[in-house]
Amino acid sequence: MAIDAYFCEVNCYVRENSFIAKIAASKLKAGSVAIVIGKTIHLHNATRAELLMNQRWLRHEIAHIRQFRHHGFLNFVLLYLWESLLNGYHNNKYEIEARAAENNDRICDGIVIE
Ligand SMILES: [Zn+2]
Repeated sequence: MAIDAYFCEVNCYVRENSFIAKIAASKLKAGSVAIVIGKTIHLHNATRAELLMNQRWLRHEIAHIRQFRHHGFLNFVLLYLWESLLNGYHNNKYEIEARAAENNDRICDGIVIE
């Protein structure tokens, strides 16, 4: 995976109490959820501060922001949904990539969280 190709400056956003994340949480039967759509990390049952303090979690979500940027918004939505249909959530290659990014201490380089 050429994740180094992703490194570029990106301004991104965090939205707490997100309705989209609330729906995702109920579908996933999860307590706290973060879901990235474009450049925004949508949170349910978690605060911006909790996300920013949790380095591995933040890296994971930043990896998804880079995936959106790399593939393009609509293209990535379709690719992600297709992967999920084929392989489910855990084995979705974009999730595998994002989990690997949790150990990447450069993934947040150039990221500005508004
Ligand atoms: Zn993920």
